[in-house]
Amino acid sequence: MAELLKGKEVASSIKDTMRRDIEALAKEGKVPTLGIVRLGDNPGDISYERSIIKNCDNIGIKSKVFEKDLDIKTEELVELIEELNDNKEISGILVFRPLPKHIDEEAVRDAISPSKDVDCMHPLNLEKIFEGNMDGFAPCTPKAAMEILKFYGIPLEGKNVVVINRSMVVGKPLTMMLLNENATVTICHSRTQNLDEITRNADVVVVALGKAKFFDEKYFNEKSIVIDVGVSLDENGKLSGDADFDKTEPLVDKITPVPGGVGAVTTSILLSQVVLACKNM
Ligand code: NAP
Repeated sequence: MAELLKGKEVASSIKDTMRRDIEALAKEGKVPTLGIVRLGDNPGDISYERSIIKNCDNIGIKSKVFEKDLDIKTEELVELIEELNDNKEISGILVFRPLPKHIDEEAVRDAISPSKDVDCMHPLNLEKIFEGNMDGFAPCTPKAAMEILKFYGIPLEGKNVVVINRSMVVGKPLTMMLLNENATVTICHSRTQNLDEITRNADVVVVALGKAKFFDEKYFNEKSIVIDVGVSLDENGKLSGDADFDKTEPLVDKITPVPGGVGAVTTSILLSQVVLACKNM
């Protein structure tokens, strides 16, 4: 039986720190406020938005939703973001992605003020991560994976860590964060050969493919520490990670459950970055 690396406990420790910071900000008359920009009314976005607002309310962060039509022009969206950049009440801006295909995502990304960029879309903030400066805003999912490793005291220095994902939202920034902790990192992707051999020889494996139950016991050993970032539906329509939990959990040393693992920490990271943005205002 593996030790379960539960996200809830990590999130609750992040929230404790946040509460203290919010109290200190209140004494200066400051209230952290998140501006959410949502295009259209996709049910997934609405449900994510509700969860963020609830989390904001619970901790004392204000949130304001700026809803626009799906057919908004890039220029209009950029104008809205520029208004939010200048709005002294808004500490941080979150633009829901993916954006519709007709929107120039680069223009939107570049328009967000780096000091309000709590979802780390702006190239300047990503550049900092790649330079090894971890004091600013980070992409929330890789930061959540790092917080789990830190919370459970999993050593990274000199360890072999395999990241299966090379996207700019997960794999690449995560690799930089792991390198910063002196891990030896291997990035794998869809063209990687002998994936099972690579993962079996790693100390920590971060799986982030988005394919339910892809990784069975052949990918791991009894010392494996598995961080499962993947979230998708299995053949029965049930939320599942990339690791086949029933087959891998009895074998490996530690594993994050899905749901209740990385995803449970991501929103707390986002909110902590809103608090950071407010502190820096
Ligand atoms: P993505 O851009 O589709 O990236 C998937 C990665 O997996 C790519 O690098 C891809 O390789 C690689 N891959 C696909 N099939 C593979 C295979 N057979 N063998 C090895 N590598 C393979 O997805 P993403 O946006 O980074 O998200 C990845 C997963 O994380 C999704 O399940 C998403 O839902 C989840 N996610 C979770 C959270 C959270 O808070 N928990 C947040 C964001 C995303 P190529 O580059 O070669 O295509």
